[in-house]
Amino acid sequence: MTVAYDDNNIFAKILRGEIPCHKVYEDDKTLAFMDIMPVAMGHVLVIPKCPAVELSDLPLDYAVAVIATAQKIIKAQRSVLNIQGITQMQLNDAQAGQSVFHYHMHLVPAHFSEVAKHETAMADPQALAALAAKLSAAIA
Ligand code: 5GP
Repeated sequence: MTVAYDDNNIFAKILRGEIPCHKVYEDDKTLAFMDIMPVAMGHVLVIPKCPAVELSDLPLDYAVAVIATAQKIIKAQRSVLNIQGITQMQLNDAQAGQSVFHYHMHLVPAHFSEVAKHETAMADPQALAALAAKLSAAIA
């Protein structure tokens, strides 16, 4: 269950032009702009032009549009920044660290370890199997 969409969140204000941003790209369904506190230089956010808090309530046509814009941004980042490694991330809910409650995809020109961490320990296969079955049942 996501929080209710708040029309006064900072990205809604950016979409309405009430707050400035450093725009990189825009089309009818998406806007891409520089993150104001970049994890690495060239950190871009891609947002849909629809009210969605996070992944679970993002309409699929806007999800496709966000991906299409992200593909353009990645190509531009690689070309301009002369870097191949772009970490794509997106936080769902405050428990995951989400701080702005309008869906946004991060495209960070940096190795994943500069953004978060890779786990090195293998999980118990039985625990993985049990969880996979529970998740699968929850979808069915
Ligand atoms: P989250 O933690 O929700 O995944 O990411 C929110 C992101 O929005 C952060 O990386 C933060 O730096 C960025 N951000 C917050 N406020 C603003 C703003 O007013 N303008 C821009 N361009 N980015 C913002």
